[in-house]
Amino acid sequence: MTQAIFWFRRDLRLADHPALERAIQSHDALLLVYVDNAADNVYDASRAWLRRSLERLAEDIRARGGELHVLAGDPESLIPALAVETGATSVHISALHEPDADARDARIAATLASGGIAMRRAGGRLLTDADAVLTQSSTPFRVFTPFHKAARPTWRHRPREAPATLACGPLPSSLQGARTTLDAPRPRWDNGFWDTWTPGEAAALTRLDDLLPRLHAYPDARDVPAVEGTSRLSPHLHFGEISPSRIFDVVQRHGGNGADKYIAELGWREFAYYVLHHWPASRHHNFNPKFDVMPWRDDPPGLDAWQRGLTGVPLVDAGLRQLWNEGWMHNRVRMVVASWLTKHMGIDWRQGAAWFMHTLVDADLANNTLGWQWVAGTGVDAAPYFRIFNPVTQSRRFDPQGTYIRRWVPELRALGDDAVHAPWESGLRVAGYPAKPIVDLSAGRDAALARLAALAK
Ligand SMILES: Cc1cc2nc3c(=O)[nH]c(=O)nc-3n(C[C@H](O)[C@H](O)[C@H](O)COP(=O)(O)OP(=O)(O)OC[C@H]3O[C@@H](n4cnc5c(N)ncnc54)[C@H](O)[C@@H]3O)c2cc1C
Repeated sequence: MTQAIFWFRRDLRLADHPALERAIQSHDALLLVYVDNAADNVYDASRAWLRRSLERLAEDIRARGGELHVLAGDPESLIPALAVETGATSVHISALHEPDADARDARIAATLASGGIAMRRAGGRLLTDADAVLTQSSTPFRVFTPFHKAARPTWRHRPREAPATLACGPLPSSLQGARTTLDAPRPRWDNGFWDTWTPGEAAALTRLDDLLPRLHAYPDARDVPAVEGTSRLSPHLHFGEISPSRIFDVVQRHGGNGADKYIAELGWREFAYYVLHHWPASRHHNFNPKFDVMPWRDDPPGLDAWQRGLTGVPLVDAGLRQLWNEGWMHNRVRMVVASWLTKHMGIDWRQGAAWFMHTLVDADLANNTLGWQWVAGTGVDAAPYFRIFNPVTQSRRFDPQGTYIRRWVPELRALGDDAVHAPWESGLRVAGYPAKPIVDLSAGRDAALARLAALAK
């Protein structure tokens, strides 16, 4: 009888799972583990998600006769120890496609190999083979549209059902002490999340089903933060509760006007991972080194006001409060709040990106880095560096009745449909809300243009 370790990471599902499928086919029994490692920096909001996602996965595994063991420790020592103690011949994983995580996997594979144990790595997290999709001169694409044109024809889907049963081996007694559970946050700041979200594979599939009847409206509705115009699949995708190939397949087969636009957004996720793969330093550094001398402003009180949704700009504040309460923010509003921080307030994109990583349930190194660098204008495929979102114009255009603002900034509920976007323009004072924006809109824009113009010299 051969036994293997199956190490779940960000592939917390049972269907469409190439690594799990391969492990089941090659072995009589599997030891299913998740390793909770403090050094992995699973940030606050996404850790609250992870806790529930692991509970769902454990239930789904139990229903198939198996058991998931959640262990605490450093995988660099724990995984080889588990393999030795169980007599496993191999360890199966899905690739994470993040530079630090991939380097650690390579070190673990080397340790295992020295004991004659194989590390088997499969795909499934992405649709694109980043080393195969290249320009005609065999260099990586730097611009989204040609990347997407070249990548999309390579995307494949072979539906894989979840296994009906799972034959599992026991956790060795020497490692029983490593068992752990993920604690709920204290105080329960995540309570508001669960009105909106249900982690787990079943809920991810329901979200995908819910999208289909409104897919035709997606190209326009996706920009309106007050309506349910997008799929909200991002945290499910981040934790691998659903595969991108299933989403691609279902949406493509459904077809219609919205399908192409939706698939292009999935393409942005592919592009974000592609950029991180080819330019791993971009997770910490400006993709465009010209910005390395940018005189970012050091403004802790300003950053604090931004984080708490008290900048005095209603759409910006609504977005940051949605983030705090729901662990998620609408994409259009992510762009507006990021532009406000990096352009009008002149604060380094890395400070905003760090806040997003702590507060988003879909916090994702690749997508977050690409999003922030795109808005800041420091990135690959950047918007022209002088492009600065006017948050009031954006607000009037995409939230014309102020529905989104009123939902998240209750102080402004009584204001009329025009004043709610910019109360200071009508000289209105609202108790408990800043009397005017933390930065004057035109002065902030001019200062940003001056900083950018100095860089261009
Ligand atoms: C400053 C900034 C930071 C961001 N940080 C993150 C992050 O940490 N994690 C994250 O998943 N997304 C991030 N995004 C991208 C985008 O905002 C979210 O993916 C999207 O809002 C998720 O909602 P949805 O699932 O309803 O999207 P939908 O519109 O339904 O799109 C479907 C899927 O496509 C992908 N996608 C859509 N837009 C983008 C995009 N611009 N870039 C990359 N992938 C995209 C996501 O996986 C998304 O779930 C960020 C964008 C910006 C501007």
